[in-house]
Amino acid sequence: MNKLNVLEINFELNGVVDSIYPVILRDDKEMILIDCGYPDFLALIEDCASKNNIDLDELTKLIITHHDFDHMGSAADLKSKYPNIKILSSSKDEKYINGKEKSLRLQQAEAIYDSLSEEQKEWALNFHKTLELIESVDIDRTLNDGDTFDWCGGIEIIETPGHMPGHISIYIKESRTLIAGDALVIENNKLDIANPQYTLDMGEAKKTINKLLNYDIDRIICYHGGIYQSDIKRSLENI
Ligand SMILES: [Zn+2]
Repeated sequence: MNKLNVLEINFELNGVVDSIYPVILRDDKEMILIDCGYPDFLALIEDCASKNNIDLDELTKLIITHHDFDHMGSAADLKSKYPNIKILSSSKDEKYINGKEKSLRLQQAEAIYDSLSEEQKEWALNFHKTLELIESVDIDRTLNDGDTFDWCGGIEIIETPGHMPGHISIYIKESRTLIAGDALVIENNKLDIANPQYTLDMGEAKKTINKLLNYDIDRIICYHGGIYQSDIKRSLENI
């Protein structure tokens, strides 16, 4: 019994209606959540899981694709409510998730601060504060490019740098599904690289697209945008 559920989490943040798409993989032994939403999203995730007949008490692992606040924001809450969950991330991202080093997103925001207008600066300071308040959490196991596991029918970890250097995606062989995290987004029904403003290294992001062309993919799940399954190879080549 290998199952994949895409959780559609709908919410309103700063007056904007939006959705994110964490994924739950299941087999007889494992239940793995991939990414866990913004800070204070635990109740939304529990709610959405229960609508899909999933009980988060059975969660065994959380895989964090990268340390942005919309992907790891509720990790500490999740761990404190469900202490048996093991938390996994790329070895490159461990030091940001456990708080040993300042988040790259905050470093980026601080670096551009002086170039902003007064109006933007006010917004930026709020953003800095939000990032500073993200609760760090310890990583139980680190992941590297090409790691394979027999969980949920077999998964492979693919390092997909660009959006962030430690970004990983998860490939599920059995269903030829790529859980892309933020390596890809769906915008206007088109597969694309996230906005340059949020992509720390555009050159790397493009190399990542080429790397993904080596995989046999029938379906891509983007954290921002949801499920994409039309003509994957050509869509990747077009980016
Ligand atoms: Zn994101």
